[in-house]
Amino acid sequence: MDVFDKAFGWRDLKIAQATGFYPYFKAISDSDATEVTIEGRRVLMVGSNNYLGLTRHPKVIAAAHQAIDKYGTSCSGSRLLNGTLELHQELERRFARFLKKDAALCVTTGFTTNLAVLSGLLGRGDVVFTDRQNHASLVDGVRLSYAEEKRFRHNDMAQLEKLLRETSDRNGKLIVTDGVFSMEGDLADMKEITRLAKQYNARVAVDDAHGLGVLGAHGRGTAEHFDVEDGVDLVLGTFSKSFASLGGVCAGPQEVIDWIRHKSRPFIFQAAMTPSAAAACIAALEVIEEEPERRARLWEITEKMQRGFKSMGFDTGVSVTPVVPLVIGEQWRAWKFWRALFDAGVYCNPVIPPAVPANQCLMRTSYMATHTDAQLDRVLDIVEQTGKKLEVIPQIRPHTTVTVKVASPGQNQFLASAVRAEETPKSLWSNGNVRDERPLHKRLSDVVERVTWQAINTDPDELAKVAALPGKLWRQRGQLPSLLMEKGVGLVMRQHAEPAEPEDRA
Ligand code: PMP
Repeated sequence: MDVFDKAFGWRDLKIAQATGFYPYFKAISDSDATEVTIEGRRVLMVGSNNYLGLTRHPKVIAAAHQAIDKYGTSCSGSRLLNGTLELHQELERRFARFLKKDAALCVTTGFTTNLAVLSGLLGRGDVVFTDRQNHASLVDGVRLSYAEEKRFRHNDMAQLEKLLRETSDRNGKLIVTDGVFSMEGDLADMKEITRLAKQYNARVAVDDAHGLGVLGAHGRGTAEHFDVEDGVDLVLGTFSKSFASLGGVCAGPQEVIDWIRHKSRPFIFQAAMTPSAAAACIAALEVIEEEPERRARLWEITEKMQRGFKSMGFDTGVSVTPVVPLVIGEQWRAWKFWRALFDAGVYCNPVIPPAVPANQCLMRTSYMATHTDAQLDRVLDIVEQTGKKLEVIPQIRPHTTVTVKVASPGQNQFLASAVRAEETPKSLWSNGNVRDERPLHKRLSDVVERVTWQAINTDPDELAKVAALPGKLWRQRGQLPSLLMEKGVGLVMRQHAEPAEPEDRA
C-alpha cells in the first residue's frame, strides 16, 4: 500500500478536464476587478467577494505601497515573537472601535481566524452548537477543539432550542453560525439565535465574512442589520472580501481576546499578516467608514440583479444579499452552463456537492459596488441568452412582476423565511415539480446526457456493475433504453470532447 495510491488512481480530474467543462483554477492574467483577463480573453467578473470594489481604490493601493516601502514584504515571524508591527496594533484598535467591542485580534487569514478562535477557546466540557451549513473553517475549528459538537439543521431554531434545552448549564455553551451563508446568500436568524443564547446561558460567535462592510447602516454586518450587536459575543470576519486584503479578525471582550492571543496554536504558530495586507485593510476600513454610498450602490445592484434573474425565470433560492445564486440543477448541467457563460464572456462560480445538495448545483454570482450598469446589463443579457439556449429558463419570460427581497438597511425582519414562504419562481431544472413541456427527443437527449455524466463520474468498479445494465434492460423493456445507453454515451462523449483542446478555444 502506498499513500500516493489514492492520488495516482484518481480519474475524476482527468475525466473532467477531458470533457472541456472543468471550471476550476482558471488563472487571471490581468484584472481591474470588475473585468479580468483569463486565457487571453476579457470576461466580466461576477464571481468575486470584492463587494465594495476596494481592491483598486487609490487610497488602499497607496497604503499597501507605503507599508512595503517602510517594512518590506514580510513580517518573517509570529505575532507573539518578532512579527508584531505597530500596523497590526493599529488595525486591531480600529476594528475593536468599528465593531463596538472591547478588543480585537487580527489573524493571518479568515480561515485561520476561525481555527484559532474555536480551537483556542473551546475545550473539554464545552458544547458548541453549529448550523449545518456553516463554513468549512468553522467546521474545522470545532474539529480542532475538544468540545462536543451539536449540529442543528440550517436556521432551524426549534432544533437549536431543543439542543440547548438538553444541555446542562455545567457545560460552557457557544452557538456558532455564519452571518451571511456564503453560497446561498441567506442570513442566520440572528434575532432568534441571540434570544435563545440569553435564555439558555450560551455565548454567540458569528462569522460575518460576507456581512462586514455590506450589511447594516454602517457596515457592521449581520448583527447590526438585526439590531442585536449586544447579543453577539464574538464577531469573526475576514479581510479578503469587503476589506480588499488578506487576513481575519475576532472582536470581543478584552479577556477573551487576550486568552486566544496567548493560548491558540493556529495564531501563535503562524506568521503575522504581511505589512501591505495590514495597511491595505486599515485604508479599506477608512473608506468603508467614509463612503457609505458604496454600500448603497451595492444594494441597488443586488436588487437589480435579483429582479433581472427572477423575471427571466431563474430560481435565486433564498438569497437576500449581493451573493445571488442561480439554481441550475445537477452537476453536469451546472458545469455546462458555467462553460457556456464563460465562453460568452461572464465569469461566475459553479457550486457543486458537497457544498450544495446533488440536484441543487448553482452558479454563484456576486457583485461589486463598482460594477457599472452597462456591465450588469451585459451580464443579464448573456445569462438570459445562455439560459434559453441551454433550456434552463423558458424561451419567453414568465414573470413580468417579481417580488425582490434584499437585506438592505432598514429591512431587518428575518428575510430568509420570508423568501422561502413566498411563491418564488423556479427555473426549469431547479425543481423536479416543474413539468417539462419540451419535445420528446429533447427530453430523451437529456436523459442520455445525465446517464453519461453519471457514468463518467463513477468509480471503474461500480461502472463494471452498471455495464451489465443495458443487457438487462434490453430483456426487460425492449430495445430503447439500451440503445440509448450505447449510442448516447458515444454521442455525448464526442460532444463533450470537442472543447477539450485548449488551442481550439484560444
Ligand atoms: N468564513 C467564511 C464564511 C468564508 O466564506 C470564508 C472564505 N470564503 C472564510 C471564512 C475564510 O476566509 P479567507 O478565505 O479570507 O481565509
